[in-house]
Amino acid sequence: MTQLLWLRSDLRVADNTALAAAMNAGPTVALYLITPAQWLAHDDAACKIDFQLRNLGVLSTRLAELNVPLLIRRVEHWQAAPAQIVDLCRQYQIDTLHINDEYGVNEQRRDEATAEALRNTPTRLQRHLDQLLFAPGSVKTLAGDCFKVFSQFRKVCYLRLSHSLPRCLPVPAPQAWIPVPSDPVPTAVADFASPSDVLRGRWPAGEEAAHKRLASFAEHGLAEYQQRRDFPAQSGTSRLSPYLVAGVISPRQCLHAALAMNQGELDSGNPGVVTWINELLWREFYKHILHGYPRVSMGRAFRSQTEALPWRHAPDELAAWQQGRTGFPIIDAAMRQLLATGWMHNRLRMIVAMFLSKNLLIDWREGERWFMRHLIDGDLAANNGGWQWSASTGTDSVPYFRLFNPLSQSAKFDPHGDFLRQWLPELAHLSNRDIHDPRASSGLFGTPGYPLPIVDLTTSRERALSAFRNLGERL
Ligand code: FAD
Repeated sequence: MTQLLWLRSDLRVADNTALAAAMNAGPTVALYLITPAQWLAHDDAACKIDFQLRNLGVLSTRLAELNVPLLIRRVEHWQAAPAQIVDLCRQYQIDTLHINDEYGVNEQRRDEATAEALRNTPTRLQRHLDQLLFAPGSVKTLAGDCFKVFSQFRKVCYLRLSHSLPRCLPVPAPQAWIPVPSDPVPTAVADFASPSDVLRGRWPAGEEAAHKRLASFAEHGLAEYQQRRDFPAQSGTSRLSPYLVAGVISPRQCLHAALAMNQGELDSGNPGVVTWINELLWREFYKHILHGYPRVSMGRAFRSQTEALPWRHAPDELAAWQQGRTGFPIIDAAMRQLLATGWMHNRLRMIVAMFLSKNLLIDWREGERWFMRHLIDGDLAANNGGWQWSASTGTDSVPYFRLFNPLSQSAKFDPHGDFLRQWLPELAHLSNRDIHDPRASSGLFGTPGYPLPIVDLTTSRERALSAFRNLGERL
């Protein structure tokens, strides 16, 4: 009764629902599919693929300790996955294929096609809830609809968690040795350039590294999370997002670590812990939105009226934004952080997203794509949710008239200019006040080696407001 575990975004042995179920049912073989053309079609960043492969390398050692062989197969697109799976199931006489569910439209279609392909074979498919605390579609309004407002969604989540907390599963006991050799894990895949050692060093692979990070954050960061989370120069957030996206750590493990620091209290006790649990629920919320409103997974605005916005075709301004050359230090420092580290602080993600979609009035989808192509934690649901929030095209998004001013955001959240100096050494000599707005101190010709602002904040703000107002009744 051999079991097949198809690993995707669940690269861990502890608290892995499908792995535990498979090993409980019989001797288990694991599989990972390398799908380069699919990754390219999804704009997955090279550093994200590298992170997956590095985690897969560590995981293969952990699986070997459990006597679970890891097979690696390559198909270009997910369309070819079902046939590959059927072949393997026949070859290894698989009784049950186990998968942890994923929620994008293409992921769902892939899994439905796999289920269909297995229908007339002896292999059964068993799907598991693992990536989330709640199955999408299971948290509903009284009328049976998907929630569109986070605070209402969160209330129901709290209620359900207070009645029953999902538990963490232990690492399964090793199984008896089985005569299936493991495949070597590739260290690189063509079309995905290897990132720098500096970037790799920031994101060490493996469950142990993830848990070290969680433990250190729980000990040193969690209690003050609420006060420190908005300041990019501080390490006030967990930086666990790449590990959550690759499934190297589970949301249940994160939740339990937070509860342990708060005497088990969910929505009372330490405000830092409560705020962090809230963020885990935002992650949950956007996956539920993705599942409940599949159009957001297909490049469509949640609020379809906003499709009529007159987005500007401004390739030079887009390139300046992408490369961190806008002349606004907070924008440029943030975009350079993204390019160098594959990650950007949440406050900065909101500031740069609003700058692109409002001040430059460039389609938020351009920004969404650029983020996906460079983020090590690129995640369709959270990225789309964040972009549509910032562009005021999404559900429960920021009202269109509440534009962030990048200069005042910079002064407020990087008051001493520490973050700006780290990423913009050409401005390091400026005072703590002038560094946020070099133009103000240096006059018409600006600071040598640093660009002049590409846009006037007042007129561009007015342009964005009027574009939204012109949607009139449709807004
Ligand atoms: P912490 O503050 O420690 O939060 C803990 C975890 O909660 C995070 O790791 C993440 O899994 C989750 N989380 C936190 N904030 C959010 C949020 N607003 N929405 C959804 N989940 C959240 N997050 C991604 O994981 N992938 C993305 O591609 C992504 N793109 C974004 C794009 C934009 C424009 C914006 C505004 C936000 C985006 N986010 C994305 C959400 C957020 O910025 C990151 O999750 C966070 O910065 C990760 O850092 P951290 O692990 O230190 O977070």
